[in-house]
Amino acid sequence: MSADGEHKYFPALCPRGHRAFLAELPPGSGTARVSCPACGSRARLIPGAYYTTATRSRFERVAEAIDVGALRRERASTIASELALAARHDDAAFVVRALAEHPELAGLAPLLPEPAREMHAFIGLVIALLDAYAAPVVSEAAVE
Ligand SMILES: [Zn+2]
Repeated sequence: MSADGEHKYFPALCPRGHRAFLAELPPGSGTARVSCPACGSRARLIPGAYYTTATRSRFERVAEAIDVGALRRERASTIASELALAARHDDAAFVVRALAEHPELAGLAPLLPEPAREMHAFIGLVIALLDAYAAPVVSEAAVE
């Protein structure tokens, strides 16, 4: 949990397929309206972790490295599953190899964490983003 008064940034996704971004929501504002910075469409929040001023760049680097233009929605969940399997080996080399098989993720290579024990958090974020890109946009009511 963050300290009181800390900014909180929640991952959000554009319904038109632009890249995921972080939306700052004031405390307790579950009803905030979030817009895609690329096109202004109403975005939906990705369930899960939030980020702080200190950690937001971690999310942004990974989100920017995934080539959403090349990533097809049907492929995203398959790739996420493959990465999850590779991550189970608890051996960074498996994850590196799994990433290398997907050109859409080539931008992640320079971001691979060192030491490798941070690989779990890193790949967890990649998988969460891929799952989000794979999920059909259900309803704007999700962010109401
Ligand atoms: Zn957009």
